[in-house]
Amino acid sequence: MGSSVFFYEDGMSNKKSEYNWLTQNSKMAKMSGVKTYNGGIPAYQSTTGLKTCPNAAACAKGCYATMGAYRFSNVARVFEQRLKLSQSPNFALIINAEIKRRKVQRLRIHDSGDFYSIEYTQKWLNIMRANPDVQFYAYTKMVSMFKELADDGQLPPNFTIIYSFGGTQDKLINRAVDRHSWVFSSLEALKAAGYANASENDAVALDGNPKIGLVYHGTKSFENTDWGKTKGLAA
Ligand code: SF4
Repeated sequence: MGSSVFFYEDGMSNKKSEYNWLTQNSKMAKMSGVKTYNGGIPAYQSTTGLKTCPNAAACAKGCYATMGAYRFSNVARVFEQRLKLSQSPNFALIINAEIKRRKVQRLRIHDSGDFYSIEYTQKWLNIMRANPDVQFYAYTKMVSMFKELADDGQLPPNFTIIYSFGGTQDKLINRAVDRHSWVFSSLEALKAAGYANASENDAVALDGNPKIGLVYHGTKSFENTDWGKTKGLAA
């Protein structure tokens, strides 16, 4: 883009946080060798009332992204700004520019939030097509939507989707076939079930084992969440 200043649809300039849409969290920093970035939007529901995780179910109680540092007002404000950007016609323009400026090699879409609409999803698919050398990946509970897009041949080859248990469409995830993730109470339980541990290093989520395990790290105790009720029914 000529000017790197993004203007919201209401005309408000965002010069201060231009190029601040993609970040690196501690897990990203450990993915050595490949420049990996991440961009999140508010978890579960925005301040405007938009359901940003439309298929959240068991995951919502004890969601890591509604707790801890994610609740700091400055962090929450950035997430709301990103959501607003995602609704603007400038979204792809801004993200494409930031990918180039940061020389992003791998991008995780959402450490918080989900693909809240097909229109928003299509914007990301267009960004992937515009950046064929960048590897994109995402955990999602929007299972039926992505399975339909896959059946229609609309998912670019540089995109890896990981179906995430804990949502309203768990029944559609086939654990024998689909790359998927499951939250465990402990590392021992994760290993005993034959899952790859992506709790510390997210690169594991893209390796050979399509069964991705995460040890619960929210601020509630595992027993006070609904994760223990999650059932994988398709396999
Ligand atoms: S889908 Fe992810 S971000 Fe959204 S409520 Fe569930 S765990 Fe939180």
